[in-house]
Amino acid sequence: LFITFEGGDGAGKTTQVELLAERLAERGLEVVRTREPGGTALGAALRDLLLHGPDASPRAGIDGEDAALPGIDARAEALLYAADRAQHVAEVVRPALARGAAVVQDRYIDSSLAYQGAGRPLDPAEIRRLSEWATDGLWPRLTVLLDVSPELAAERRARSGQRADRLEREAEEFHRRVRSGFLELAAAEPERFLVLDAARSADELHAAILARVESLLAV
Ligand code: C5P
Ligand code: MG
Repeated sequence: LFITFEGGDGAGKTTQVELLAERLAERGLEVVRTREPGGTALGAALRDLLLHGPDASPRAGIDGEDAALPGIDARAEALLYAADRAQHVAEVVRPALARGAAVVQDRYIDSSLAYQGAGRPLDPAEIRRLSEWATDGLWPRLTVLLDVSPELAAERRARSGQRADRLEREAEEFHRRVRSGFLELAAAEPERFLVLDAARSADELHAAILARVESLLAV
């Protein structure tokens, strides 16, 4: 069983991944809780590059919404995410699924489709092909989209005092494109997606997610 969690930064994905993983483990399932980018040793190095750029020192802000990110061109960025994903699928996800484990994962292909495909000036169809090549066409059975408004996301980030990364400097418009990118993906595949309002309490969200997962386990 392969389940992914998607949504903007500050949506509460990590909390829900933890809660679901715990609950599935209680049922006696082997659970592999993992994330992208950064779910392997190669991925950890790529994550560091992706979040902070090749130059550890902070750079000047970007000029316009479509400006190249500090140090990483949009196509290069897409390829780095694809490389992280290829390694992760080969090293962690496929072996886990093959031995019957449940994989509960923070971010997957839909993040690339939303951030790189909808957020950046890249062709979403190309990002899809790249992602399918990187994973040899592995798609999750269920994708939970925690839909978060830009306002709530900003509020949560400010409150959590999370360290700033490259994405912090993106224009608000970038995050709006990412959010609508996610919602469009969900609308196109209602069977795979469970869309929930990230403003709901963690307990409520967990209950809704568990109900959907239970129905998958029952069949
Ligand atoms: O979810 P997590 O905090 O691990 O994501 C790390 C950063 O990478 C976030 O700022 C997220 O918005 C960004 N990201 C991205 N494109 C992806 C996946 C994540 O820009 N495909
Ligand atoms: Mg996170």
